[in-house]
Amino acid sequence: MRSPIQLMFRWLSINGKLSQQHLWCFIRRCSTVKLNSDDVNQNSSKDMIKRLESRGLPIVHHHGYVCDLPVNHHFPMKKFHGVMHHLKVDNVISMRQVLEPERVNIKNAQTVHTVEYTEKFFTGHTSREEQKITGFDWSEGLVSRVRYETGGTLLAAYAALEHGVACSTGGGTHHAFPTHGSGYCLLNDLAIAAAVLLKEGVVQKVLIVDLDVHQGDGTAYIFRNDPRVFTFSMHCEKNFPTRKQKSDLDVPLEDRMQDREYLDHLYTHLPRILNDFRPDLVLYDAGVDPHVDDELGRLSLTDKGLFDRDYYVIDTVVSKGCPIATVIGGGYSKDIKTLSLRHTIVHRAATKVWTKKSI
Ligand SMILES: [Zn+2]
Repeated sequence: MRSPIQLMFRWLSINGKLSQQHLWCFIRRCSTVKLNSDDVNQNSSKDMIKRLESRGLPIVHHHGYVCDLPVNHHFPMKKFHGVMHHLKVDNVISMRQVLEPERVNIKNAQTVHTVEYTEKFFTGHTSREEQKITGFDWSEGLVSRVRYETGGTLLAAYAALEHGVACSTGGGTHHAFPTHGSGYCLLNDLAIAAAVLLKEGVVQKVLIVDLDVHQGDGTAYIFRNDPRVFTFSMHCEKNFPTRKQKSDLDVPLEDRMQDREYLDHLYTHLPRILNDFRPDLVLYDAGVDPHVDDELGRLSLTDKGLFDRDYYVIDTVVSKGCPIATVIGGGYSKDIKTLSLRHTIVHRAATKVWTKKSI
């Protein structure tokens, strides 16, 4: 349930009377105001801060992010449960912070995908050939999982607009194209979240920062002619997909690149994009497949390198007064425990930024 003040500011922002940047600045001002117990007005500010901040950094998760797969399937499906498990047992988050998404509806999926494709995918009429390039056999459970995951990215985007930062425990299906799925991606959650918010008029410009080791080819293609969305992809040149699309900015990297050089590329490009494009929202794909031990990625980042990367992206965006929603992206290992822990790096980095912001 939203508080009256949140509803008022949401109404103002939706109706163009208040930009999201102003809303975010307002919330940040509230969270840093010095309180005086003798002052009635400031007491009401205190209540408001409690409502806005008491739940902590919004974490978007649903047990439906996981579905059954055939034994020995290569996709590490159980990692989504593992991420939530490690966030809880390590006391990074509490259940008070968790928001549960609904499954994305077909109308919102069609802001990006064709009517023909969505109807086929939702009802189980994609061909064997179409299923083969996605890496999954069609099942009702798969559709449900994909819809929850996409709904999760959309909810994280809304939560970020309201609270500044929000993190899903899934998402990052950036290889999905308007007419077909590809490379373990059935619906393009990042593109759908951006397209729905743009359609609703909640934001005017969205920046998609894609640091998964694979190029965000579906996302780049979807927004190739849309000046309202800036697609930035930093990826290993020799990783999938073989045929790359053209993002607004592609930074192809050489095999086995290590932390220092990787981060230097990021430091060079991200602040300039933020200054030039001035987005109302950033969607961040924090794929961990650039890690040295990843089974598919060809880069050589360490856990610390990934943490430094994620902290830098979130802190830099927040410091500009821009909301940011994060998704976990790709990561591949048979060791589900280690992989799940690695995927929690982005939530740990976001928590550190959130804590700093709230002081
Ligand atoms: Zn990937």
